[in-house]
Amino acid sequence: MGVLIVGSVALDSVRTPFGEVEEVLGGSATYGSIAASYFTDVDLVAVVGEDFPEPHREFLRRRNINVDGLVTKPGRTFRWKGEYGFQLNEAKTLRTELNVLETFQPTLPASYRQAEVVFLANIDPELQLHVLRQVERPRLVAADTMNFWIDGKREALLRVLKEIDLLMINDGEARSLAKEVNLVKAAQWILGCGPKGLIIKRGEYGAMMFNAHRVFIAPAYPLESVFDPTGAGDSFAGGLLGYLAQSDDLSDATLRRAVIYGSAMASFAVEAFSVDRLKDVTEEALQTRVREFKAMTAFEEIVP
Ligand code: AMP
Repeated sequence: MGVLIVGSVALDSVRTPFGEVEEVLGGSATYGSIAASYFTDVDLVAVVGEDFPEPHREFLRRRNINVDGLVTKPGRTFRWKGEYGFQLNEAKTLRTELNVLETFQPTLPASYRQAEVVFLANIDPELQLHVLRQVERPRLVAADTMNFWIDGKREALLRVLKEIDLLMINDGEARSLAKEVNLVKAAQWILGCGPKGLIIKRGEYGAMMFNAHRVFIAPAYPLESVFDPTGAGDSFAGGLLGYLAQSDDLSDATLRRAVIYGSAMASFAVEAFSVDRLKDVTEEALQTRVREFKAMTAFEEIVP
């Protein structure tokens, strides 16, 4: 199975306590696609403006990402400016310039319509629905969102929740979506809106996966070198869905393993600005990190 990913392709300007970059490659679909591309074929759906640097598109193509659905429209590429304080878990958005994203209404290339795994990455929920309606028979639909849409397009977002299998959001977003401080209650409320599964991402504290009966908890990889958290959530989702698609199995056990692969991809994403670390992760580095996760969480049998 391959993965279809719709989301933003962006030029990001980011400041962290460790440095600052201007107009670097970013966007929810960018991080998601790169992470997923380590596992499976990726069909990318997004829009950029005429100012989008050609080397970025070339780079995505070289990573074997299908960019037939990456459309160029007259105007400027989507831009996001954010900042992190020493509390690296939550970005403070300084500016969101939708630009060409504002009027994007993609028609999916014919080959994309058969997609079995679909990731509606962080983007306007109306656009998420528009894309989903064009996919013929998806087996798994996952979505992400952020406060910008929770506050600005709540009704459309609630419609998205009715049509998806898995929602992946961070803890602050879960609380504001459910209007509930307690995370367990917030999770129950969200599951009541439609999705069969919910993953709450908690930055350096890891991720919690809920369904109606169970919760699975994975830590984040304890890194010494967190540099820029931008894209962690999208890389997590891309890695998770890529792994699921590659496994061709949606059982609970595979889903749990997929959470670990997603966490491993997120840990690479945060080690450098933009996609600088995520862009070349070797199979060996990935497997080493997954083994470390296993050793870190074992308590009944100690993994050597
Ligand atoms: P993450 O850190 O995984 O939550 O996602 C960061 C990425 O989301 C950045 O690269 C931004 O370009 C992108 N982004 C920020 N705000 C929005 C928005 N309102 N819609 C779509 N993408 C966004």
